[in-house]
Amino acid sequence: MHYQGNIIRPPSEANAIILQVTVGCSHNRCTFCGAYRAPEQQFQIKDDQIIAEDIAFAAQYCRRQKTVFLADGDALIIPQQRLLALCQQIRTKLPWVRRISLYANCRDILKRSAQEFTELKKAGVGRIYMGLESGHDPILKAIRKGTTADEMITAGRRVREAGIFLSVTCLLGIGGRKFSQQHAEDTAAVLSKMRPSQIAVLTLMLLENTELGKAAAEGSFQLPDRVGLFEELRALLAVLEDFRCQFQANHASNYFTLNGRLPRDRDAFLATIDQALAGEMSLKPEGLRGL
Ligand code: SF4
Repeated sequence: MHYQGNIIRPPSEANAIILQVTVGCSHNRCTFCGAYRAPEQQFQIKDDQIIAEDIAFAAQYCRRQKTVFLADGDALIIPQQRLLALCQQIRTKLPWVRRISLYANCRDILKRSAQEFTELKKAGVGRIYMGLESGHDPILKAIRKGTTADEMITAGRRVREAGIFLSVTCLLGIGGRKFSQQHAEDTAAVLSKMRPSQIAVLTLMLLENTELGKAAAEGSFQLPDRVGLFEELRALLAVLEDFRCQFQANHASNYFTLNGRLPRDRDAFLATIDQALAGEMSLKPEGLRGL
């Protein structure tokens, strides 16, 4: 397979065929994100010939993998007809594949109509991962996410209405100590309106090669301490409206794991967080956290 730069995929795509169809992220401006800063990860849509060679490789060597993940950061930027042709190629050459998944940013989702998402669903796109990070507009602006909370809700609903599984990530700590409470409340409010199929909670890790990492080093951004992060997670869960979805805080960046369904497991999740707040459970050592 032709892989360029670091390949990042969601935890639930661990067993997927990773087909790199774009390199990097077309936005690449979020202040906390250091994923695609290297020169060799400058954004591009990969050449059709290279993608075709990778599909041919997968046809020969990946016959046991039933899903395909289209990397990197926002494969949905590929124009509709080209993306549909790519899905068709996957279906023809890898007929055992049951689902195609990809990362998409809010802006690229909003450029597509409901009809276009229906076409993608029919072509095999079964899951879309979108980074919300926060539902609080001042935070979205500060981190240069490039969209507002209302736009995130519209984008999320559009994906869901096409019958596509929508996984949305939120980032504990992204509002700093200053906006921690508003971050929790507004993120819960946006999720309640969007009603994604899955909520994935990550914990902010400050990276030296990012603006936010530099701001933290200079003292202009203060990450909540562990207790503050756990209280933030508790506040988010406590005010989230009842709707059925998977809830996962099982990313490598998290200090402990929550993994289950809402609303069924809400009380158990809150009890686990209370245990963490009371210092009654072992937490992941700092050195073992990762992205
Ligand atoms: S967080 Fe997502 S949208 Fe923002 S720069 Fe990183 S990959 Fe791109």
